[in-house]
Amino acid sequence: MAKFIFVTGGVVSALGKGISCASMGNLLKARGLNVILQKFDPYLNVDPGTMSPFQHGEVFVLDDGAECDLDLGHYERFTDVNLSQINNLTSGRVYETILTKERKGEYLGRTVQVIPHVTDEIKRRIMLPALENPQVDVVITEIGGTVGDIESLPFLEAIRQFRLEQPREDTVSVHLTLVPYIAAAGEIKTKPTQHSVRELRSIGIQPDFLMCRSERPIGGDARRKIGLFCNLDVDHVFEARDVESVYQIPLNLHEQNFDVLLCDRLGLETELPDLAEWEKIVHAILNPTGTVRIAIVGKYTELKDAYKSIIESFIHAGIPHHVKVEQVWIDSESLEGDDVGDRRLAEIFSDIHGILIPGGFGDRGIPGKVNAIRFARENKVPFLGICLGLQCAMIEIGRDVVGLEMAGSAEFTPETPHPVIHLMEEQRGIANMGGTMRLGAYPCHIVPDSRAFSCYGDLEISERHRHRYEVNNKYLGQFEKAGVLFSGMSPDGQLVEIMELPEHPFFIAVQFHPELKSRPGRPHPLFREFVGSAVSHFSSSQEKSVDRAAN
Ligand code: GLN
Repeated sequence: MAKFIFVTGGVVSALGKGISCASMGNLLKARGLNVILQKFDPYLNVDPGTMSPFQHGEVFVLDDGAECDLDLGHYERFTDVNLSQINNLTSGRVYETILTKERKGEYLGRTVQVIPHVTDEIKRRIMLPALENPQVDVVITEIGGTVGDIESLPFLEAIRQFRLEQPREDTVSVHLTLVPYIAAAGEIKTKPTQHSVRELRSIGIQPDFLMCRSERPIGGDARRKIGLFCNLDVDHVFEARDVESVYQIPLNLHEQNFDVLLCDRLGLETELPDLAEWEKIVHAILNPTGTVRIAIVGKYTELKDAYKSIIESFIHAGIPHHVKVEQVWIDSESLEGDDVGDRRLAEIFSDIHGILIPGGFGDRGIPGKVNAIRFARENKVPFLGICLGLQCAMIEIGRDVVGLEMAGSAEFTPETPHPVIHLMEEQRGIANMGGTMRLGAYPCHIVPDSRAFSCYGDLEISERHRHRYEVNNKYLGQFEKAGVLFSGMSPDGQLVEIMELPEHPFFIAVQFHPELKSRPGRPHPLFREFVGSAVSHFSSSQEKSVDRAAN
C-alpha cells in the first residue's frame, strides 16, 4: 500500500512549491523509496498546452506526449523518474471526464455535483499512480494555486475526504508558506503563516509539516510560535531559506532532519539516504572555475520560466566542464531592422561564446533569429538551434548558402516561393489546437561520423517533440550540396530530426527539445558538447586578444 503526501501553498504564489515537492521526492528516492510526483492544477484549461508561455511559462512535454506544467520538469530532474500523462491533472480535465460520462448517461439520471462527483474523480486520480504501478511506495501530490483560492476548493475537499478515508499513517499534509522579513521593523513575521494555516484548517486539513520560505533565518522562538499557533510540534516547522541553487534544497531539508521525521510520520522504515552523488553535483554547481556566456535569442525573454528547462540544462551542462554558464537574454526583435548590420551584430555578440535559438511559435522575431544564426555560422560561434531554432537555421542557410531567395516557413510566410519548412503531412486538416501537435518521444537514427554521433555516442536515440512543421524533403539534396549534413533522421528516413554543418566548430540544430531530458547527474549530450565548444571558443578568443595585445 502506497503512502500519500499532499503539498499545498499559502500566503502568496511562486513560493517554489514545485521545487519543494521535487526536493522531497529526491530525498525519499535517496532513501531507496519508489516515488511518483504529480501536480493538480485548479485552472480550467484541459492541459497547459494551449496556454501562452507568457501566462504559464514553459510547457513541459513527457515521453508519452502529455503537455504539462513546468513543475513536472522539476520532478523529473530531481527524481530522475519519467512521468506520464496521469501525473498532471487540471480542473478542466476533471470536468471533461465527468461531462463526457454525463453525456453518455453514465450517471443514470442522478444530479451531477461537485461533491461527490468532482471530488470522487479527484480522489481516483490521487490514487491512480499507485494503482497503475504497485511498486510505488510514495505518491506526492502538489496542489497548484494558493490556499484560499475559490478554484482550488474541490481539490482541498477531496484531500480532506481522502485523508479521512485512509489510515492516519498513510497520508501527510505539507504546507508551504512565506515568513516575510520586514526591513523597517528588522523582523520576520509569522502572522501570514498563521492565517494561511487557519484557512487550511477551516477546510478541514490540519497540516503535519510546515515549510517556511524565508530570506532570513527563522530562529527557535519564531518556530515555536508558529508551531503553537498552527497546532504543530516545533520540530515539524521547517525553514526553507533562499538558496543560491535550487539543487541545494534536498540537502538543506535533510540537514533539518525532514526526511527522518517524514518517514517516521508515514511509518516508513528505510535505509539512510545516499546523497553522495547529489552532494557532488551541488558542489560542482556552486564552485565553478570559470564562466562562459551563451546568448539565448528568443521572444519570451522577459519571462525566464518560458525557458525553464533550457536554463536548467545549462546548469547541468556546466558541471562536467567546471564552468558556470551565464545566460545572456536577447530579444530577437532587437536584432532586426536596417540599423542592425554586421558591425552591430559583432558588437552585440562581442563577448558571447555560444548562441542558442530556442523553440517558439508565430512570426514575431524571426528575422532577428535568422540574423543571429547567420552571425554564428559566418563567425564560427558555437550554435545550437532547438525546434524553431532548426527551422530558422534552414531558412538562413536556404537564403544565404543554398541561394533560395526568400526561403521561408509555411508557418509564418505561407506565400514564400521556397517553403523549406512546411506543415507535416499528418498535420494537414487538423483544426483543433489542443494536444494535436507531434508530441512526445520519437526514435531517431544518427548518422555515423557526424558531430551528432560524437555527442550521443549512439546510433539510436529517443527525444521529445512538440511541433507542427518540419523540414521540406524536396530541398534536402540542395542543402546537402551546400554542405549541410542531415545527421539525424526518423527511422523511416522521412523526417529530418538533426542538421549540422561539418565545416563549423559546432553548428547543430534539432527538431526536438533536448532540454526536456537533461538531468543534473546526466547533462544532455548536445548541451554538454555545446557548452564544451563554447569553452573552447572562449579560450581561443582569450588567446587572440592576448596576441593582439602583444602585437
Ligand atoms: N512553431 C514551430 C512548429 O510548430 C516550432 C515549434 C517549437 O519550436 N516548439 O513547428
